[in-house]
Amino acid sequence: MDGSRASSLTEKEFPFPGTAPRGPSGPGRTPDSRTPDSRTPEDSTAGGRSTNGVTADAGTRALLAALTALQPATSSAGMIDQLRGLEDLKSAIAGVQAQITVAFDRSERQHQAQAGVPTAEQGKSVGAQVALARRESPARGSRLLGLARALVTEMPHTLTALHTGQLNEWRATLLVKETACLSSADRTAVDEELSPDTGTFTGCGDKTITAAAKAAAYRRDPRSVVNRAAHAANERFVSIRPAPDTMAYLTALLPVKNAVAAYAALTRTADGARASGDTRSRGQLMADTLVERTTGVPGGITRVELQVIMTDRALFQGDSEPARITGYGIVPSAWARDLIHPDPSDNSAPATERHAYNVWLRRLYTAPATRELVAMDSKARLFTKAQKRFIVARDDTCRMPYCDAPIRHVDHIIPWHRRGPTTITNGAGLCEACNHTKEVSGWKAHPRPRPGPGKDPRHALRITTPTGHTYHSTAPPLPGARYRT
Ligand SMILES: [Zn+2]
Repeated sequence: MDGSRASSLTEKEFPFPGTAPRGPSGPGRTPDSRTPDSRTPEDSTAGGRSTNGVTADAGTRALLAALTALQPATSSAGMIDQLRGLEDLKSAIAGVQAQITVAFDRSERQHQAQAGVPTAEQGKSVGAQVALARRESPARGSRLLGLARALVTEMPHTLTALHTGQLNEWRATLLVKETACLSSADRTAVDEELSPDTGTFTGCGDKTITAAAKAAAYRRDPRSVVNRAAHAANERFVSIRPAPDTMAYLTALLPVKNAVAAYAALTRTADGARASGDTRSRGQLMADTLVERTTGVPGGITRVELQVIMTDRALFQGDSEPARITGYGIVPSAWARDLIHPDPSDNSAPATERHAYNVWLRRLYTAPATRELVAMDSKARLFTKAQKRFIVARDDTCRMPYCDAPIRHVDHIIPWHRRGPTTITNGAGLCEACNHTKEVSGWKAHPRPRPGPGKDPRHALRITTPTGHTYHSTAPPLPGARYRT
């Protein structure tokens, strides 16, 4: 922040004991190296809508006021007209956002070039800043930046279609995505050929638009489309996301031959087991086989650590406060108790699942008021294992606002070289990408001092971006606590 009006709190209101004096945040570059005007968002103190230190400018505030005043039309036909008009407006806003994004990218690079940042390093955290401003994850922020660049510099017809409401942001994204493998000139040629601003795609759905873009791209440069297919194999990955009823989806994106082979192997095993009298359904057998083969053990849970966080009341006294599984999310307390101590009289689970693993109990807090571990300081530069475990349990996912990625690093919020202490308060869990962003010059972070009695006790930190905007990140509530206290 350093004096920027964009910040929502001044340093005086936000003291943090032990904070190192703020020096330059990178070689030859501090946010102060800009003129004050260029760093201060317009009207930030004029009482506009302000979230996380970002304030809407006068133009967007006027738009917003007009929208808020809009009443449903008096006739049915009028209401349909309104719905269409507002849809056009959403598309037009997406077009303007793309232009602003490209202008912001240029301006950031210019500032960095003037400050002597090497060319390769310039523009590094632009996507992350766009993401925070648009309340999106950093990964999506980078995609939005790519979309904006393609629209503004290579696909003027698609951009015009967005401005005029003929395409919405998602459909413009489809055109950009399907032409991503082409050279800049070929992409512009495809944009010209399709000319979505002339009504080409009136009445067309996502699939038709994708097919048209694919065909045009293939006509322009068949080889690059084939190369892209080969490159797609590099994008293979496995992910997990929660499903209802304490279930989860384990998803793998694979080259088609691998996926078909894996599926066939699971089917074969399941059919074989059923033929020899296994009473489980084909689907159950395939799922069980997948887990057993991946983990290498029957039952599947041994040798990996499954972290269940719950209160002692929920564990020992049958309290109903939900528990949390790190990397998954919230589960009912009875389910968690059963996982930790299965009922031996329950015959519904296969025998291999009962007592098939060791249970270790670790105490994170002795009581909500004392927080033994919070006071645990370390003189060392590296966090201890216990501190890391505590921070990962506390933060659950990456602490960058809107980023839900798994934690890969436990990092000092105020860096060690700026005299940031190795404490739980000064530690935060970050994903790989956000950890790199944080190192880019102009980014700063500060933990909130421990709150007084009656205040939200959750750990909070403040992130300041190179433009001087601030964003706050609060750890999720631990089991037994609520979002609003
Ligand atoms: Zn992240």
